[in-house]
Amino acid sequence: MPHPSIGFIGLGIMGEGMAGRLISRGVAAGSSNEVPPLVVYNRTASKCDDMISRYPNCNIVVKKTAREVVECCSIVFSMLSTPEASRAVFDGDDGALAGVSSGKFIIDCATLAVSDMTGMDERVRSRGGQFLEAPVSGSKGPAHLGQLIFLCAGSEIVYNDPIVRSSLNAMGKAMHYFGPEVGRGTRAKLAINSLMGTMMAAFGECLALATAVGLDGNAILDVIGQSAIQCPMYALKGPKMLRDDHDANFPLRHAHKDMRLAVDMAGDAGVAYAVTECAEGAFRRARDDAGLNVADRDFSAVFESILREGSKGGGEISTTRGKERDG
Ligand code: NAP
Repeated sequence: MPHPSIGFIGLGIMGEGMAGRLISRGVAAGSSNEVPPLVVYNRTASKCDDMISRYPNCNIVVKKTAREVVECCSIVFSMLSTPEASRAVFDGDDGALAGVSSGKFIIDCATLAVSDMTGMDERVRSRGGQFLEAPVSGSKGPAHLGQLIFLCAGSEIVYNDPIVRSSLNAMGKAMHYFGPEVGRGTRAKLAINSLMGTMMAAFGECLALATAVGLDGNAILDVIGQSAIQCPMYALKGPKMLRDDHDANFPLRHAHKDMRLAVDMAGDAGVAYAVTECAEGAFRRARDDAGLNVADRDFSAVFESILREGSKGGGEISTTRGKERDG
């Protein structure tokens, strides 16, 4: 029996890698009847063409609207950047929701506000579909390598569906189910990402301080790597940060979005979140600094903003790199 068709909406930094895993693991876009086509939509159509070029002998079908993807697929994943992007693609006559009918499975993997997820859930169910939120922990590299961690909540039928399972297994190394109440996956994601952003801002300050007082940044990275505070993120990002390499895996503007959503969630929950709120401010200033222009660079570029704020305040940047940049 042919498998139900699989759709993917949003071929951005993450979606490109995730959809690629569905292809490379043989879940979709295979040449036999046993494997369904992969049906894709992206606002910028050239990204769909790029995908076809990357997988030339695979059965990838490009649709002009999100509605068409949902109409012709039983299972649809979406990976859009922000609540605004999500509304632009889900709402309206050509939006994904307009294509939902009885039995459709919609799985949203973006990091949005809890209210975005619960709203989508209600609207999908009101049209006879089923909804699973499945935001991910992991970045561009893990998306390409199938190493994401899915934080799911919502329809247990969707979560336990064998094709959904094989899709999540192709794209991820772990999945967690936080229960049928949509919003719990997003809450988990925001709590975790607020820690990640706070760690990055503090790491940036540590490197800025160490180098400003004349220490070798790489030596400091070695010490961090040998100590109890070592972590893969510091090992991966640290050397790049010291050479001003902020090629975007996780754009800074998205990191700020997540920090803001987490701070708001903490406010609603009555939790003191002052440390994270400070870090949120650091990301906000970095995002809004038109001269620095790092909103679309990696979130590690919060370091550049910290360096700049220090030098504006009269502090000296004593790293070689800082001197080069200043003149
Ligand atoms: P991205 O590359 O910036 O964009 C994702 C998608 O959103 C693209 O398909 C983009 O279309 C679409 N989009 C943006 N604005 C739109 C609009 N107004 N109308 C229609 N489509 C729009 O984002 P990403 O890095 O893949 O992240 C996707 C989600 O995963 C975000 O919620 C992010 O917070 C979360 N996340 C990201 C990472 C990471 O490391 N990058 C890690 C974990 C979770 P175009 O191609 O046309 O621009």
